Amino acid sequence: MSKLERQKLTLPKGHDKLLLHSCCAPCSGEVMETLIESGIDFSIFFYNPNIHPVKEYLIRKEENIRFAEKHNIPFIDCDYDTDNWFARAKGMENEPEKGIRCTMCFDMRFERTALYAKEHGFSLISSSLGISRWKNMQQINDCGHRSASHYEGISYWDYNWRKNGGAVRMLEISKNEEFYQQEYCGCVYSLRDTNRWRMKNGRDRIQLGVKFYSNAMDDEN
Ligand code: SF4
Repeated sequence: MSKLERQKLTLPKGHDKLLLHSCCAPCSGEVMETLIESGIDFSIFFYNPNIHPVKEYLIRKEENIRFAEKHNIPFIDCDYDTDNWFARAKGMENEPEKGIRCTMCFDMRFERTALYAKEHGFSLISSSLGISRWKNMQQINDCGHRSASHYEGISYWDYNWRKNGGAVRMLEISKNEEFYQQEYCGCVYSLRDTNRWRMKNGRDRIQLGVKFYSNAMDDEN
């Protein structure tokens, strides 16, 4: 689907701007373009203390900043409080992806997003997390609604960013922008598990900081 076919969005009634939690540039690129083309006022909120190691965290963040700056979108760079993340993940180290550790991880990121929204005059939050086909959208939306419910006057927008060609354009934009292509979800446990799977399937371990999207890639990537 071409970029021109994108539908214009409107914010849910009663809201005039959006605080968009972003997990990374590839996931938020399409969401950002849709919001820009819809004339929606929004800011990016980057709070992802799950990402490990710091080298990977910085690459993902810088890619997101690069795209936000290109479009003059405010970028809020929040803490990298990994100690808190690891404290909350204690006992869940061997949980599978999409399990309770991920619920904790989404909760933590959305709680901080909702708090920032409350303290800075936003009434609506959302996230690029749900656009990835590797994620459980219901799990993400449940976490978003739960976090927003802790703060009076804050709502979570559970718009399905995958639909209307969103998932296809996400890849298209990633290639055009030559975004860094992360190869695991983000935390040290997802890195470990992805590497275990790769080795079992005769593939090399993940090398951080080397893989980028490009138009030369085939659509399987
Ligand atoms: S696998 Fe992804 S969502 Fe789950 S805990 Fe790790 S970083 Fe968070």
